[in-house]
Amino acid sequence: MSDEPRKKLNLGGLTLQTLAPLDGASTEALPVAARPRATGEPVSTRLVIVGSGPAGLTAAIYAGRANLAPVVIGGLVGGGQLMITSEVENYPGFPEGIQGPELMERFRAQALRFGSTIVDADVDRVDFSGRPFRLWADGVEYHAQAVIVATGAEAIWLGIESETRLRGKGVSACATCDGFFFRDRVVGVVGGGDSALEDALYLTRFAKAVHLIHRRDALRASKIMQGRAMTNPKVTVHLNRTVKEVLGDDLVHGVRLEKTDEPGEETLPLEGLFVAIGHRPNAEVFKDFLEIDGKGYLKVDGPTTASNVDGVFIAGDVDDHRYRQAVTAAGEGCRAAIDAERWLEAMESAERAAETAKEAAPR
Ligand code: NAP
Repeated sequence: MSDEPRKKLNLGGLTLQTLAPLDGASTEALPVAARPRATGEPVSTRLVIVGSGPAGLTAAIYAGRANLAPVVIGGLVGGGQLMITSEVENYPGFPEGIQGPELMERFRAQALRFGSTIVDADVDRVDFSGRPFRLWADGVEYHAQAVIVATGAEAIWLGIESETRLRGKGVSACATCDGFFFRDRVVGVVGGGDSALEDALYLTRFAKAVHLIHRRDALRASKIMQGRAMTNPKVTVHLNRTVKEVLGDDLVHGVRLEKTDEPGEETLPLEGLFVAIGHRPNAEVFKDFLEIDGKGYLKVDGPTTASNVDGVFIAGDVDDHRYRQAVTAAGEGCRAAIDAERWLEAMESAERAAETAKEAAPR
């Protein structure tokens, strides 16, 4: 660690504790405002958290309470996938349910309460080749001794206008979140992979009937999932069909399907449509430094949230293609903050010991 003393900056009510950067980088820490201006000088901090969904903001709450004064670079459209979710009924502590955006507003308020700075900008470049780690967002360069990556994943949508318009009004990309609202209804699931079949089977617990709509003549899902779906009396499989339009003004009442094996269209009456055509983890910007698995997700290294880069930690859906729940992401954010805090503590204490030994050595 640099032998610069730690600095405490008071920034209009926000106290930012900084460490001087390593490796001869600028030692001048800049005030962090809600939207730092591109001054050419880097903003230095002990911990940067990238992402402001449940994982990132939970990490911020824990790191804030550990006096790390984290800077959260939360994305231009912060809050993650819950911002496009209506009613959330499975987040513990809210027995009456809560709207997704309101839940994220509460996460944010709690993170701010404990001294986080939240910057509404996208990270567009990183350099994790040495410490301080360097990140760039909205023309501002950030230097951090440790980083938590919690950039999440996005559901892939069909990309048709009616789907966007009816999102939250019968169109969903999360059967686990929204299936409960379709008790005794007729619903559709789009996709032919394991997610689609898993969603279709999950939805049979609530729905009266589930129509699986797939664009080809063969499903991509594993044979075992196919077997389960085919033998479930509530599931009807429609092969060689693509959704051209979701029908309905304020609520879904059907889909217009185009046949892919012959000319023609047909209408299927439905009350809900679940799009399950895959997820895209937001990992692209880290790909030159962090390990990515075959499905595009960041890889954690061992039983903690540590990545392959010492001092960089990973939390939430960007490394999780299995559970993808707000509560599991929040749990991972907590783990990452604890891992980062312990790592910083160990690193700083080793560096202090080295400095003491150096000073005590005979000249
Ligand atoms: P996936 O395997 O990539 O399947 C996506 C499905 O959506 C494919 O059938 C694809 O059709 C279809 N699709 C893609 N774009 C489409 C579009 N624009 N319009 C219509 N259909 C479209 O994704 P996934 O099902 O989310 O699975 C991701 C990974 O997680 C897989 O490796 C899967 O095995 C794994 N997973 C495992 C489990 C489990 O083991 N229980 C559960 C869920 C997921 P085509 O087939 O024509 O390409």
